[in-house]
Amino acid sequence: MMTVRADELRENLHLVRERIEKACEAAGRASDEVTLVAVTKTFPVSDVRALTALGVRDVGENREQELKAKAPDWPDVTWHFVGQLQSKKARSVVRYASVVHSVDRSSLVTALSKAAVAEERTVRCLLQVSLAWYGPAEAATGAGRGGVEPSAILGLAAEVAAADGLELGGVMAVAPLGSDPDEAFAGLRDVASRLRSEHPGADWISAGMTGDLDAAIRQGATHVRLGRALLGTRPPLG
Ligand SMILES: *Cc1c(COP(=O)(O)O)cnc(C)c1O
Repeated sequence: MMTVRADELRENLHLVRERIEKACEAAGRASDEVTLVAVTKTFPVSDVRALTALGVRDVGENREQELKAKAPDWPDVTWHFVGQLQSKKARSVVRYASVVHSVDRSSLVTALSKAAVAEERTVRCLLQVSLAWYGPAEAATGAGRGGVEPSAILGLAAEVAAADGLELGGVMAVAPLGSDPDEAFAGLRDVASRLRSEHPGADWISAGMTGDLDAAIRQGATHVRLGRALLGTRPPLG
């Protein structure tokens, strides 16, 4: 059984890398400008092991429970936290993840900073940008997919830059359902360049999932977060 799954993951990884290379080529970018983050949520730790054996070095989770269950001390894996984060879970997340993609409010900056200092770690923080503006009007008023309004990004960035234990890494976003991902990610790219003009080191753009990877790469993504393309369809969340 293991071998069948390992073969499947090897094939998926091969296809995903080809897709990234083609998208980079079409966009006139070098494929090593784009880092693949394998989002393994809902899949077993054996899949993480299989992917790392195939050379994947960046792995993402969106829930603290799953992160702490799956992230034993693998020195050659960089764990990324990509989900909504409650402040009270900051300490546990910081213990395992070296990048948090979903920083979206001052109180979380404070909690992450305290946690990073306590754990004696440096955490790279990406500011999650709301692209609700690019979605259908009804989506903008609904639960949405999180993030800070673009106009508030520089303020939050200054807080991260000044916080002990944190390093400002760049921006992250999820394209709203029903949006044109090229338009949404072009908006993200604008926010990213405004951020970079004040914080030159904050040059990561985390954008692109299985459904909109190509658009994200066209619009400058440096980190793509892929789940289904690599691991297959997820069981429905309970
Ligand atoms: C699940 C998830 C992904 C991966 O999505 P796929 O569509 O499976 O590629 C990326 N980013 C975040 C924030 C996620 O929660």
